[in-house]
Amino acid sequence: MSQVQPGCLWVVATPIGHRDDFSQRAVDTLRAVAVIAAEDTRHSRPLLLHYNIATPAIALHEHNEREVVEAIVRRLEGGESVALISDAGTPLISDPGFRLVRAARAAGIRCIPVPGACAAVAALSVAGLPSDRFVFEGFLPPKSAARRARLQALAGEPRTLIFYESSHRVAESLADLRDVFGGEREAVLARELTKLFETVIGEPLAELAARVAADPDQQRGECVLLVAGQAEGGDAKLAEGRRVFAILREELPPAKAAKLAAAISGAPRKALYEAGSGE
Ligand code: SAM
Repeated sequence: MSQVQPGCLWVVATPIGHRDDFSQRAVDTLRAVAVIAAEDTRHSRPLLLHYNIATPAIALHEHNEREVVEAIVRRLEGGESVALISDAGTPLISDPGFRLVRAARAAGIRCIPVPGACAAVAALSVAGLPSDRFVFEGFLPPKSAARRARLQALAGEPRTLIFYESSHRVAESLADLRDVFGGEREAVLARELTKLFETVIGEPLAELAARVAADPDQQRGECVLLVAGQAEGGDAKLAEGRRVFAILREELPPAKAAKLAAAISGAPRKALYEAGSGE
């Protein structure tokens, strides 16, 4: 394909690590459009050079998206073809582009996906967790109190949960996941996918949290965390007990929190204490 339709917005996925995970159609599209809107033009330059893509690039990132969207839509309306890329993977998936696609569609511009890598889907494809239904939660809040509150709202979710996480916070987040969902809930840490140090570890949360806390190598690189949904027919009392325990644990010592959570939920005190205290 050497030509692209004029006046269309092409939303093009780029690799998440391995450079060969770039489709021929993606390369052809990026060569043929009038301009590439890139999250970080400097970051994308080596990839574009590697594939002999000489198309001019402009920056579209979370700090300027509001301002540049209008200019890009005007160019599209004027008949230019524009491609959108992010630093890695699929644009809009925890990456900029939502405002541009929304504005383009509102202006009646055709938006065409050129699909490819996405870390969440790549991780799910090898996690061995139920994949028929899943929930993508993006990044959890960086602060523990907000993170726990978010997790508490998700504790009863029956679908597989997928989170993006920074390597600096993966140990803390795993500890919070263990405390809120219980140590025996199945989880997977998918790290550095498609790269040299790719690792996919599936374990109950208590073991995974302990392993990652003890091994600085597991706290490096890019990570996706996946957690099994609450089992159907699972113990609803226990799930509620854990939810209450996690809230009380913010203010109280584990033994007292477990006693009160057990009284409120009807779940066994010992199970709450053992699964959720992190001790
Ligand atoms: N748009 C991207 C996508 O389609 O996956 C995601 C961009 S988001 C800013 C970056 C996060 O995605 C990382 O912090 C990590 O959680 C996840 N990620 C990206 N590449 C990854 C990889 N190779 N292995 C594991 N996780 C990755």
